[in-house]
Amino acid sequence: MESTVKAIETDVLVIGAGPAGLGTAIALMRGAPEGSKPRVIVLDKGRNPGSHILSGAIVDPSGFDGLLTQEETAKLPVEARVSKESFRMISGPGRSMKVPWVPPLMHSRGYPVGSLTKIVSYLASIAEREGVELYTGYAVTELLEENGRICGARTGAKGIGKDGGHKENYLAPEEIRARVTVLAEGGCGILTERLADEKGLRGKRCQTYALAIKELVEVPAGKQTAGEVMHTFGYPLTDGTYGGGFVYHISETQVMAGYVCALDYRRPEIDPHLLFRRFKESSAVRRHIEGGKTVAYGAKTIPEGGYYSALHPYTPGCVIVGDAAGLLDSLRIKGVHIALQSAQAAAKAILAELKDGKGLETYPGLLHATRGWKEMKRVRNVRAAFRHGTFCGVMGAGMAWATFGLFPFWRLGGFEMPDSEELEPLKPGALEKESARGVPQNSPLSPDRLTGVFMSGTLHDEDQPCHLKIADAAKCGECREKYGAPCTRFCPAEVYRFEEDRLQIDFSNCLHCKTCKIKCPYGNVDWTFPQGGDGPRYTRM
Ligand code: SF4
Repeated sequence: MESTVKAIETDVLVIGAGPAGLGTAIALMRGAPEGSKPRVIVLDKGRNPGSHILSGAIVDPSGFDGLLTQEETAKLPVEARVSKESFRMISGPGRSMKVPWVPPLMHSRGYPVGSLTKIVSYLASIAEREGVELYTGYAVTELLEENGRICGARTGAKGIGKDGGHKENYLAPEEIRARVTVLAEGGCGILTERLADEKGLRGKRCQTYALAIKELVEVPAGKQTAGEVMHTFGYPLTDGTYGGGFVYHISETQVMAGYVCALDYRRPEIDPHLLFRRFKESSAVRRHIEGGKTVAYGAKTIPEGGYYSALHPYTPGCVIVGDAAGLLDSLRIKGVHIALQSAQAAAKAILAELKDGKGLETYPGLLHATRGWKEMKRVRNVRAAFRHGTFCGVMGAGMAWATFGLFPFWRLGGFEMPDSEELEPLKPGALEKESARGVPQNSPLSPDRLTGVFMSGTLHDEDQPCHLKIADAAKCGECREKYGAPCTRFCPAEVYRFEEDRLQIDFSNCLHCKTCKIKCPYGNVDWTFPQGGDGPRYTRM
């Protein structure tokens, strides 16, 4: 381990400057009595606030209640509110049918729709105004623990060369000792996952994830309506794998198009990026983006297991908030409002802890009293119902709505194993069959993966150790034989490719989505942190 040269003391250390982390920091400052504001440090590995943030995003504004003033909520940096919503079943490239009604639990009329990157940047400015110390470009690589209690964290060193030597810009790790540590890393956070295993914080089901790939398309003015949103299901996923697409008109000239593919898929030939391109080529989507040009690209994984997969969010000295704890409404695939509500619940518990030295353990109870948690409970079986096909899933969602989540009252089966173990061996001819379905031509509306990576702004100093460590290279050959090397398809950034018989890893393309950590059938990818500040540089996702 690198020698540590600095130790900083703080009341609260928040790891991750997304909605959950910044929400906690703001709620702490606003909830503390005048004259005794705590010292709150927020660290984020992205270059700027919001650089690593990507979401749909139609934001349920209930999360801002109690956190922001009405005036601040009104000033959220979005250009549109949802004014027209539809739900469409796509059955083929040229065939789709509008569902006559939008399922009640999915209504979002009037909600702000726009870029979560920008919203996070806005929250960061409010946090700093409140006195929060926000430092971006710092990857936190290790939690500190004393006598069974988490007592801070250590940042990773910067300026280490490929060979492990110190470069001219070397910066030693720093230790931040905190009375309370808040994990707000987002879905599949490395520190959170480690802690969950060490402390036994796992939920009743394994967490299951989905990979969301998203683009921002600029379209000619005068043809589209700001605030129109469409959700789809069906094509191009037609084998029962859970997934669907979305198209959001975030202004008159900007459309966000995205595709979400559940990572519990079984067929190794599935290629989520190719699915996304086919989705955009379908006539149902085409009419929304015709004549446009993709200008931004990104990908991330979403924890969609919901209520039964959520982590126990407390261990002495530490609380877990937002996506990191798996707090997401798995029917609406919405988590920002729940993240903000968990942030406010956490802040309450932390303030009690800072005052009396106890109170942190009340956080799970406070969280369970939030509207967001009750919402998760209501739809707790919906995602599992979709494992048995679209019909069962729709029935499950309908029942959750009609009975306020009372039926089914038992826990449906499914997600007994992680997504990595779901793959079946590749069937002979499966890859050929898949490519015979056609690959869209590269065009301004259908850029290939590498063009997308360029548009994501992702950047890693290449003279550093590769952050994607392969535990056993021999297993990659075995995987290629058995599963056809699925990493070469599921990675949305073309990081993995075989050259002759060797797996090449272009780590500098990495979008930090963690799909490889989640889906590698051999669990062979050890996802470590690149140096702080590297990775995607989203500005309007
Ligand atoms: Fe995502 Fe892994 Fe590819 Fe990086 S290497 S973009 S984390 S799948």
